[in-house]
Amino acid sequence: MAPGLLFDLQPYAVHDGPGIRTLVFMKGCPLACAWCCNPESQAFKVELRQVPEHCLGCHRCLAACPSAALVATEGAPAPDWAACASCASLACTTVCPGGALVAVGRPVHAEAVVEEVARDADFFRNSGGGVTFSGGEPLAQPAFLEAMLRACRERGIATAVETCGHAPLQDVQACEPLVDLFLYDLKVMDPERHAALTGQDNRRILANLQWLAAHAPEKVVIRHAVIPGLNDDPADHEALADGMLSLGLKRLDLEPYHPLGEPKYEGLGRCRSCTPDAQALDEARLAALVAYFNGRGLSCEVA
Ligand code: SF4
Ligand code: SF4
Repeated sequence: MAPGLLFDLQPYAVHDGPGIRTLVFMKGCPLACAWCCNPESQAFKVELRQVPEHCLGCHRCLAACPSAALVATEGAPAPDWAACASCASLACTTVCPGGALVAVGRPVHAEAVVEEVARDADFFRNSGGGVTFSGGEPLAQPAFLEAMLRACRERGIATAVETCGHAPLQDVQACEPLVDLFLYDLKVMDPERHAALTGQDNRRILANLQWLAAHAPEKVVIRHAVIPGLNDDPADHEALADGMLSLGLKRLDLEPYHPLGEPKYEGLGRCRSCTPDAQALDEARLAALVAYFNGRGLSCEVA
């Protein structure tokens, strides 16, 4: 089987599922959420990221680049992103001694990932934890995901999948028996606004959720990132609660927005599309939202 593409693997996490977990971040996502705090997860390829504060000023990268895509400045060399387009060689990253030019993403086989995950099997057993496949969008690499899920099953490792739900239904159905927990993102319920904020409408996402709610409701926790100014109107929250209750789903995790991804966009040569004045969600507003959703009969927590 061909390797899949990861962009990170984090052991000893205590979020994104119960107990101690290893988080496996898969690269590539069919959505482009305006507020994404992991923009390095979006592209389905290994790409260049610049971390200018790590630059040592040696200028080795200028000579290594076959496209003359790095321009000398007084500080870190400035990438000409149009000329660069993250070439296949990523030669600049191999000569950079400071870690200022790094390749984001690594091709890896499913069995190798699970081998790495399984090193912490004792922690998983003792804490009720396991592995969480996140991204990016795990279901965008369905065969790779299924292979990793199956290998985890064979080793008795509990599994969670954090998904935006934008995937063919048959891929959801193929993975479902191998998944203990779905952390299922709902961004906004209105299809047109969903398309405006993420690049895709949510009809497929809601249809897949309907199938999961009918077949394995006990496995589903809804995740909802609250972005001030984008999806935090009272009508948005009412629509979310109505939608969940109509499907018989009760568990809701709220994720407050933090503008942590801002510097990453520049380092990838991209403009951020989110409204520039999007603010972190304050504690009082978050507490009020938790109270609202619990008052609607849901079981709401902060993720
Ligand atoms: S990724 Fe390739 S084209 Fe882009 S700066 Fe590095 S070596 Fe040059
Ligand atoms: S090779 Fe790395 S450390 Fe040297 S100038 Fe280029 S970015 Fe800076």
